[in-house]
Amino acid sequence: MISVKNVEVVYNRGTLDEKTALKGVSMKILPGEFVIIVGSNGAGKSTLLKVITGEIKPLRGSCEIMGSPVRANQIFRKASIVCQDPNTGVFPNLTIEENLILARRKGSRGLTFGRIDKKSIELLKSTKLGLESDLKRKASKLSGGQKQALALVMAVSSDPELLLLDEHTAALDPRSTETIMELTERINKELGTTVVMITHDMAIAENYGERVIVMEDGKVSAIIDKTTRKVAA
Ligand code: ADP
Ligand code: ADP
Repeated sequence: MISVKNVEVVYNRGTLDEKTALKGVSMKILPGEFVIIVGSNGAGKSTLLKVITGEIKPLRGSCEIMGSPVRANQIFRKASIVCQDPNTGVFPNLTIEENLILARRKGSRGLTFGRIDKKSIELLKSTKLGLESDLKRKASKLSGGQKQALALVMAVSSDPELLLLDEHTAALDPRSTETIMELTERINKELGTTVVMITHDMAIAENYGERVIVMEDGKVSAIIDKTTRKVAA
């Protein structure tokens, strides 16, 4: 699904502020996997995500998504992303229903399907956050956890092959975090969507995901496969 090879990223190259954010990072992510990339602040997680989305072109190395080199914007035909801020994933002035309808536009053609699929409602229901009980509520009235749940369901309602999660629980309290992580797991298992999540939260990496890739100082320092209990350093 994703193949990153020897990627090096240098910010402010040739200036006094030069900073090597990725120092030869390689990783492979297989279709259907749920991978968590964990690391402390400054480890290079966001930079890696930007390489994957094509926002940053690495100085050296390569990044391929589904067999072809990434190109900015194109990836979002195949992938959806949910970020940290609950207010960026939903349209605040639209109702839950309108948000879901709008989210089903697919790819560059902006095709609107005009109705909500059953799967979206089932996913909303599974969170027990009561989102499905009144679809006429405005998104701005929802709690942070409810907004992130809606954002996740919206992100997968266009059937992406890949779901990218950029610290999507970082702004939530522990209880909402659990709900959102369970929803994330359900999406991976039930829809078969490949999930790649970045987080600084070790507890999340410990409790969720099938594979954990640990990043430290611009490098991959360990890969932990939870299904086989294999550890690579
Ligand atoms: P993380 O997401 O793990 O916190 P980042 O990828 O954001 O790490 O940052 C890795 C390193 O690169 C940090 O030292 C950070 O300060 C630096 N960095 C990130 N973005 C920029 C930028 N746009 N310009 C200069 N330095 C940057
Ligand atoms: P995150 O780790 O969640 O991306 P940050 O606060 O590290 O959050 O980064 C926010 C934004 O600022 C990112 O787009 C990153 O590239 C940029 N950034 C981070 N560090 C630097 C830096 N030293 N100089 C310039 N931009 C930076």
